[in-house]
Amino acid sequence: MDNKFTEAALIKIENRNKQIINDYVRLADLAKLRKDYDNSISKEYAETYKNHLFCPFCKGPQLSLVRSSKTGKYFLKTYSKQVHKQDCSYKFKSVKSELVDKLLINLDNNPANCKLVNSKLQSLIYKLKTNNDSLQPFLVKVSKSQILSDDINDKAVKTKRNIRRLPIKSLSSPINENDMNTAKFFYGEVNAHVDQRASKSKGNIFYAITINSITTNNYLCSIEMNKAIYDNLNIPDKLHNTISNKQNVPILIAFATILNPDKTNRFIDGNIKNVSQCIIIL
Ligand SMILES: [Zn+2]
Repeated sequence: MDNKFTEAALIKIENRNKQIINDYVRLADLAKLRKDYDNSISKEYAETYKNHLFCPFCKGPQLSLVRSSKTGKYFLKTYSKQVHKQDCSYKFKSVKSELVDKLLINLDNNPANCKLVNSKLQSLIYKLKTNNDSLQPFLVKVSKSQILSDDINDKAVKTKRNIRRLPIKSLSSPINENDMNTAKFFYGEVNAHVDQRASKSKGNIFYAITINSITTNNYLCSIEMNKAIYDNLNIPDKLHNTISNKQNVPILIAFATILNPDKTNRFIDGNIKNVSQCIIIL
């Protein structure tokens, strides 16, 4: 079953030109609208969404919402014979989430994994700076039990053999339930500020970077780290100074972690336990 899409691009074709009328729609929301439509509660699904859903990355192939006869759950499936564009990472199967979780465990004792994680984050920052559509940040080579640190060449991409897409989330759209409780690579241009705090129990100093949307300034998530990690991250002065002036500043950020909602469900936090897990530049 092809259930890798957690969202779709909503596109209406007007005047023969493809025009995006609403950035993205989440699978969970589509499933709810579809149920309401099937139960004659609302026609919104048929009127707005049906036949207007496309691959969220390359916007090439059309997607249909299909109900699994096994699980009863809805999933998004590409129309047969419609292909993704050349540079679309959805051509590749996703890495199993447990392998991504494993990649981030115990980084302090695994220099090869540190290097791999950091090189993916570097490529995401490069993508942000240049708008480059290269597949490089998204793909990794895998074996059965782990993500390998091998370089990926064009031949490997062509054959698709053991090549998988990493779970990557752009911070240009809100964090949703698919982005939490599992390891992901997050990246984007955001507004941010730093808080310095002392832990209640031992009084150790730690830092929390609060990340807000660059467009709406709405809260997205925060990441926390101890003083040793913070000191080694080369935090730009302008961001560091927000500890005293409390003003958000625009930054480019890429980090790999597991985001968890807190008890109140108002805040979403991730830990940075190793320097390789985060890159911040102005
Ligand atoms: Zn695509």
